[in-house]
Order: sequence, then structure tokens, then C-alpha cells
Amino acid sequence: MINSEDKRFFGDKARRNNILAARVLSETLKTTLGPRGMDKMLVDRTGDVVITNDGATILEEMEVDHPVAKLILDVAKTQEREAGDGTTTAVMIAGKLLENAETLLDKKIHPTIISKGYRMAEEKSQEILEELSVEIESKDELEKVARTAMTGKGVEFLKDHLSKLVVRAAEITGDGRKIDLENIKIEKVKGKSVDKIELVQGLVLSASRATPKMPKKINNAKILLIDGGLEIPNLERETQISVSRAGELRDFYAQEEEFLREIVLKIRSLGVNVVFCSRGIENFVKFALAREGVLAVCSVDSDELSLISRSTGAGIVSKVFDATQKEIGDAGEIEEISNEESSLVFIRECKNPLVATFLVYGSSTHIIDEAKRALKDALGVVASVVKDRKIVAGGGATEIELARRLHAYAKTLGSRESLAVEQFALALESIPIALAENAGIDPFDVLTELRSSHDLDNYTFGINVIENRIEDTLRLGIVEPLRVKLQAISSATEAAITVLRIDDVIAAKKPGETAAKISKMTDYE
Ligand code: ADP
Ligand code: MG
Repeated sequence: MINSEDKRFFGDKARRNNILAARVLSETLKTTLGPRGMDKMLVDRTGDVVITNDGATILEEMEVDHPVAKLILDVAKTQEREAGDGTTTAVMIAGKLLENAETLLDKKIHPTIISKGYRMAEEKSQEILEELSVEIESKDELEKVARTAMTGKGVEFLKDHLSKLVVRAAEITGDGRKIDLENIKIEKVKGKSVDKIELVQGLVLSASRATPKMPKKINNAKILLIDGGLEIPNLERETQISVSRAGELRDFYAQEEEFLREIVLKIRSLGVNVVFCSRGIENFVKFALAREGVLAVCSVDSDELSLISRSTGAGIVSKVFDATQKEIGDAGEIEEISNEESSLVFIRECKNPLVATFLVYGSSTHIIDEAKRALKDALGVVASVVKDRKIVAGGGATEIELARRLHAYAKTLGSRESLAVEQFALALESIPIALAENAGIDPFDVLTELRSSHDLDNYTFGINVIENRIEDTLRLGIVEPLRVKLQAISSATEAAITVLRIDDVIAAKKPGETAAKISKMTDYE
């Protein structure tokens, strides 16, 4: 999409070319910001289509080649990882900081001064944000944060229901201070409608018993996990057998059967009644295990094996013969529940840690994926708030107030850096501007009205884009985690400064490439 040319750029030209790349990305995402943001349709080379307004997903699916665009992509990834939401915001601020830096470059302000001013503004912003944040007090407020994160997503009509489930998942898996999102699984299940999304305490896999002859349900499960199969190792299969005597072939089969029998005996000796393995299970073993009353599931993902391992205390072995009592895990109940559309294996009453699974139903892959993305955002913000317990007002309220206080701060500086602080403040205003534009409201009217509300000390007034009114968004429950804003501003500033410091773009050597070829590529203008 954005291709770097195999040329070398110096100084100002390098810088402006880089700024352009960052701006293209942020402009692309701008129209998706907020509840009234539009969707993007992403089509890959094979014609597969993803339609979404989720910033992180759009960036992930875009083909990005320019080195600076990749840097901006990293801003989004860091944002997603550290704060769980706010990727569009972070990328937009980064792009806007660079766009505004260009205005300063035009005025012959040196990039070092701009970087320093941006750094000062960033530090000041962190301070102001802490001041503007409020402590959350109740579960109800956690739900509000989850609802705000889901507003405008594909499954917005379910946000009340889903935000309750998300907070419940946090309760099941966390201790009120920390949630490990890895203990919450999102399982996509085609069929039923999306409003049937449910939360299950325990783990659920889309899988079925290796044969219907196995029991459907096991109480007091003793679990064995194998990252491999219950099969004759390939090695032995591939070895050529030269049969010179009639009896030799028979011996060979007898040997194989003996091997399989040992597998079954080993499992029996361990007292195991449930087996999960990542590869296949030989028919002989399947039926023998079924006779022993063992429930076995094959072709389980290695991610899922790790999750089962963590929650049941079972160790993962690569060969069944390596297993000892130490590797056996426990769960209160394991059950397969299946119908014409799907087959699910429930692992309930896992002791430690407590895990939960969202079963995301839907009639199409598109709706299932949108629901999954909305849930992930909501889980991300709830995890952030559970950790920090602090929220800020949404709908652009916080950005406007930050900008206002940064303008005041700039006035106290009296150095050239103050110009950069001013531009930093303007960059933050791009958030309420985009929210308004996307909702079809005149952004300048909105800015004027917002500024005058804030001048009257109404710090939490922002745009309610659902009603198209300037209101106290904190009171309305349009709220976001403090961490989302802190992180967006810090990674956007980091990226902008990194780009501003670059004054030379050189095509570097690819691994294995000779230096001679490189020197030929650097015919600069
Ligand atoms: P991001 O990827 O940055 O999270 P989103 O598209 O999720 O982008 O939009 C987030 C922005 O939408 C935030 O600034 C948030 O305050 C705002 N927002 C969410 N709900 C509302 C609402 N009901 N009214 C106004 N703004 C809202
Ligand atoms: Mg969001």
C-alpha cells in the first residue's frame, strides 16, 4: 500500500517523505474513529473480505511496506498490548503530531527543538491526565467502561448484555486487582444467533470425542495432555520392510499392535480417564480406550493444550511413555455437548487458575469476528481499569481539556519549544474534531462550544455523538480507562520523535545480500 522506493533520501526530504507515510495511515483511520465511525472493507489477494471499523484490525490487515508506516503499526500494537483499546486514537495522534511538526519545519524550526517541545508536552500531559482521572468505585462503572469500548462496533446492539458478561468474566478469573486475559478464552461457534453469546465458567473447546463409543461425560477427570499423537511413530512406518519370509510381515504387524497395546496399558496404569492430544489417535487405540471408559480428544491446538495445562495443572508430554503421575491434571467434570451444528467439549470445575470461555455464536464469520473484536476491546479496557482503577471522560472531553491546559503551559515557557507544545495541543484536538466530523456535526461549532464549556470549568464536557450534543460525558457514562489515554499519548509521541530524528533513509542490506548490490541501489538524487 505504501511502498518505500529503493532510493536514498537525505535530510529534509527524508523527513517529509516519512511524515507523509505516517499521515496517510492516520488519515485512513480517521473516518473510523468513534461510535459513528465508518467501516473499511479490506480485500486480500485471494479475494477474502474483512469489513470492520476496528483500528487494530484494519492496520493488521493492511499491506504496509514503508518503514515509517511499520513504525506507526508498532504504535498500534503496543497500544493494543498495553491498554487493550485506543489504537485508532494513538495512530491518529502520531500522524497529527507529525503533520503539525511539518508546519514548524516550514517555519525553519529545527527538528531537535520540535522533539524537545513534544517531549515536554508529553510529560506535562501525563501529569494533567492523572489530575483529570477519577477513581472507579463500583462494578457498574466497570460496565460503563466496557460499554463505551463497544459503542459503534458491529455488535453494538448487544453492548449492555456483553458488558455484563465481560465484567462477570473479570470476576471469575481475577482477584479484583488483576485479570490475566490469557485465562479468558473466546471460542467462535458457527450457528445460533449472535445474541446467544454466553460466558462459561471453565474451558470450552470446539472439538469432539475421538469416537462416539467413548463416554460423553467424565466426573473427577484425571487428565493427560500430549503434544503429539497416539500413533505408530512415522519413522517406523517409513522404514522399508523387506519381507523375505511369509512370517515376517505377520511379525511386523504383531509388533505394531504390541506398541499400540502398550500405549493403552500405559494410559490405564496412570489412572487417566481423559486424554487431549494435538495429533491423531490410531483406531486400535481409540476403541481400546473407549472400552476402558476413557474420553479422548485429538487434534487439539497447542494454544489450547497450554490453556488446559494451566487450568488443570496437567503437564504436557510429547510422548505418552514420558508421562508420570506428576503430569496428570484434574477437573471436576468434562463433557461433550453436541448438536447438528457444533460439538463442544466443556472442561468445568478447573481448580487453578479460574478460567472462563466466551462462546461467540453467529450466523456468519463476519458477525462472529466483529463480536470477538468487540469482546476483546471490552475485556482490554476492563482489565486496564481493574489494574489502575482510574477512568477519564470520553467523547473528546479529556483531549480538549488537555489541549487547553497545554496551551496555558506553552504560554509559561517563553522558549521556541513552546511552539511545539502548542502544536502538540492542536494534535490532541484532532480527536474531538474527528468524532464530530464522523457524526456529521460541524467540527468548528463543536470546538467552539467545547472550549467555552471548558473555560467555565466543565472539564468533563465532551461530544455525545449518539445524541449530537455537548454534555458531561463522565456523568453520562461515556468513560475510558486512564491507561488508554496515557499509553496513546506516550507511544504516539515516541513514534513522532523517532521519525523526526531520522534524516537519512538508506536501503539496508538484506540478510545474505552482497554489499556491492547495495551500493548500486544508493544512487541518490
Ligand atoms: P479507538 O481505536 O481509539 O478505541 P474507537 O473507534 O473505539 O477508537 O473510538 C474511541 C473514541 O470514541 C473515544 O474517544 C471515545 O471517548 C469515543 N466514544 C465512545 N463512545 C462514545 C459516545 N457515546 N459518544 C461520544 N464519543 C464516544
Ligand atoms: Mg475503541
